[in-house]
Amino acid sequence: MAILVTGGLGYVGSHAVKLLMDSGREVISYDNLLFGHKEASSGSTIVVGDLLDLDKLRDTFDRHPIDSVMHFAALADVGDSVTNPHQYYSVNVTGSLNLAKAMVEHNIKNLIFSSSAAVFGEPEVVPIPEGHPKNPTNPYGRSKLMFEEILAEFEVAYGIKSVSLRYFNASGADPSGLIGEDHTPEHHLIPIVLQVALAQREQVTIFGGDWDTPDGSCIRDYVHVTDLAQAHLRALESLENGGPSAVYNMGNGSGYSVKEVIRLSEEITGKPIKSVVGPRRAGDPARLVASSDRIKKELGWEPKYPELRTIIKTAWDWHSSHPNGYSVR
Ligand code: UDP
Repeated sequence: MAILVTGGLGYVGSHAVKLLMDSGREVISYDNLLFGHKEASSGSTIVVGDLLDLDKLRDTFDRHPIDSVMHFAALADVGDSVTNPHQYYSVNVTGSLNLAKAMVEHNIKNLIFSSSAAVFGEPEVVPIPEGHPKNPTNPYGRSKLMFEEILAEFEVAYGIKSVSLRYFNASGADPSGLIGEDHTPEHHLIPIVLQVALAQREQVTIFGGDWDTPDGSCIRDYVHVTDLAQAHLRALESLENGGPSAVYNMGNGSGYSVKEVIRLSEEITGKPIKSVVGPRRAGDPARLVASSDRIKKELGWEPKYPELRTIIKTAWDWHSSHPNGYSVR
């Protein structure tokens, strides 16, 4: 049987696809190539398709012996979601509903969903446990929360079991050096900082220097993308073995400020990284740090690369060996 991976050629999806392929699974990577790269397929079967194309999704389920789905495909830029909410709800909610509808029609019951720390908004307690109140501060986070809630209803109505993994800050690159992060345009902090180190950008703008944090810049919990991929595999195995639906926070439990990321990147790359403090970015909470105790306890997940140093080092290995990213889209 095969696993359908939507967004399988994107950043986090491609790391999960690699792990699935390495463990001998048959994988169909369903991707519209907006952010995905064929070079990142790890030999999986590529289907070029969009979540908004319900017929293409149906056709894909018709043609392949799929019994589980990992759903990564989404729009995922916080700032962009504030200016383009329609697009975000369209892709992340309507697109995900199309996928779930095609699953129901094909009697496919297992789904691993890429959710986000953005469902929480400004935290009341840190580290954030799964049951923390959800008050998303941007349409991206709200779109992810909506689909989490839809999934709970789909289990009652249609028997779809799901594990939602709420990523904090996915970062780093697979230690094999074969796949990594390549977004155009790039919005994420670590790749932007490393592009400055590579002299591809003049400077990084720190979004706000007056947050209520020790150095005034935002604090985030950076989690290695390969550790995230591993969590997907654990979650899938749990559902395959009859485990219940669940929601898990995915981070390392340690927060680092934007300024700390820049400082450590200077040390790792040995290059000066120029930064300027600019205005706050709309929709950003000051501090997001996960408690991932639940997935550790229930699924036995343990991050292999929890150190920010390792995360930045693997990202640097990828960026410095692929200064222009993948060669083929
Ligand atoms: N950030 C920044 N400058 C940039 C990009 C990001 O200061 O050019 C900050 C952003 O405000 C956030 C952190 O870096 O506090 C991580 O942002 P990213 O976009 O990588 O991930 P997010 O936290 O939005 O998921």
